[in-house]
Amino acid sequence: MEKARRNPEAIARCIRDARTIAVVSHVNPDGDTLGSAAAMRLILEALGKEVTLFCDGKIPDQLSFLPGAQLFRKPTGEENPFDLMLAVDVSDPSRMGACESLLSKSKRTAQIDHHPTNPLYMEINSVDGTAPANCILIREQMSALNVRMTKDIAVCLYTGISTDTGNFAFSSTNAETFRIMSELMDNHLPLADLNLVLFRVKPREQVRLIGKALESLHFRGDGKIAVMTLTKTDFATCGAMAEHADTVVNYGLDTVGTEMAILSREDDDGQIKLSLRSRDPYRVDDIARRFGGGGHPQASGVTMRGTMEKTLEQVLLAMEEKVTCGQ
Ligand code: 5GP
Ligand code: MN
Repeated sequence: MEKARRNPEAIARCIRDARTIAVVSHVNPDGDTLGSAAAMRLILEALGKEVTLFCDGKIPDQLSFLPGAQLFRKPTGEENPFDLMLAVDVSDPSRMGACESLLSKSKRTAQIDHHPTNPLYMEINSVDGTAPANCILIREQMSALNVRMTKDIAVCLYTGISTDTGNFAFSSTNAETFRIMSELMDNHLPLADLNLVLFRVKPREQVRLIGKALESLHFRGDGKIAVMTLTKTDFATCGAMAEHADTVVNYGLDTVGTEMAILSREDDDGQIKLSLRSRDPYRVDDIARRFGGGGHPQASGVTMRGTMEKTLEQVLLAMEEKVTCGQ
């Protein structure tokens, strides 16, 4: 197996050779995958490439300010073949959802990603599992392509970097993060305005949904695991959508004495989506993988079939096993 490493030069070569490029984000899109794709579009268009943005999932309203946010589409099956397909922040092919169908339609395939669990599934892989955000790798890719920073690209990169670092709070945040931020500020990044949109102002539906989740909060594993649930009825009562549940799990993790947190919610299509979080040195990615999911050591997710009770109990038992034996 090829070793995971940053490989901007190899990616740059296949970009230079391509005219038409499909850029693909992951399902349940977040700020980092959309920021990466939106930035790549601007970078590739600066090089005269014909770019199509794909995402199998609704673009969250909160991220509609991203330049090109309205251009993301699901594949229809009618697309002409692309010279290159480039996945960004997509940890494994199943996370492309319907966009996986583009793989067989593309002459070459490449990816830029920062998930340590990435199985290097493309022809050309530029993967660094230690990068705090995929947008950090996109910044490096710009240099390899000799594209200059603009205010719009800065907006895209800030969106990915700030959201994936928990607004510069996670331990993954490093000096490189701030070196890049300094460059973004030099390019007229409207930091305070974007910070409000990304981290503070919430739709009423979301505030109501947080209330529902907090009502459900209880503790397991000698009080070290915070558990919250959101049913379809909760979503309906609040008028909320899946995207509104995005950061809810953190309210559990941010309770005194908590080492792990889980949010279990019913998806629109009847599946159960579990969000797992932990405080270092505890990790949850191995638990997520055991149930068919993945992610980062302290932030992982799983999507499972079954009832809320059964799926949650299975994963909770695995979490309890960890916190009670202290590793
Ligand atoms: P979240 O809990 O915020 O949805 O996701 C946290 C992390 O887990 C993300 O980095 C994401 O890549 C990963 N993740 C979330 N859901 C799934 C899933 O259903 N399958 C896999 N493989 N990874 C997931
Ligand atoms: Mn990411």
